[in-house]
Amino acid sequence: MGAIRDYFGNISSALTTAAKGMRITWRYFKHEPPITIQYPRERVEPPPSYRGLHILQQDKCIDCHLCAKACPVDCIEIEAIHHGRTLEWKQFSIDYKKCIFCEFCIPVCPVDCIHMTSEYELATEDPDGMVEDLLTWTGLRPEDQRAVEAAVNKKKGVAAPATIESAKGAPEPGSAEDKAAKIAAIKARLKKGSA
Ligand code: SF4
Ligand code: SF4
Repeated sequence: MGAIRDYFGNISSALTTAAKGMRITWRYFKHEPPITIQYPRERVEPPPSYRGLHILQQDKCIDCHLCAKACPVDCIEIEAIHHGRTLEWKQFSIDYKKCIFCEFCIPVCPVDCIHMTSEYELATEDPDGMVEDLLTWTGLRPEDQRAVEAAVNKKKGVAAPATIESAKGAPEPGSAEDKAAKIAAIKARLKKGSA
């Protein structure tokens, strides 16, 4: 008799529990706003602390490689020629196939010139497109080139111009336009790679 009572008691308990669960589900379904969005037609704005694509204030960078040394997966490649304190830039790239967005590269920078943005759209079908060069310009900017030429000529004691690669030309480094242009360029390249 006790076994029969337990049997029906278990069925009753299961039905009650299911009904409670369904009541909560129905309440959320009817009254709570949806917590999902229709990506990619809608986008979520991540919090400011989100660790997304990097951005470099190239004019402040001193090519110390501390960020590259701090990176646990060796995904930062930096190359620049030093003309005294002026840098002739060749490369400053991050391989996003390896990057784990740990942020270790950020606090070690002695001049606070590398940052992480809240940009998170990285999907691409082209693995090569995931190596991003963060440089705004390569070579020397015109003003840097003039300074280097002057230094070289002073050293030589002649007026011959130095033969150094010219800068590509770019928006004001570190400006909002510069950052927006970099992110737009990265997104365009990723989009092109996945097309
Ligand atoms: S976020 Fe981490 S893994 Fe990515 S580049 Fe910086 S240190 Fe390397
Ligand atoms: S730590 Fe900062 S200054 Fe040094 S190479 Fe990296 S970004 Fe440039």
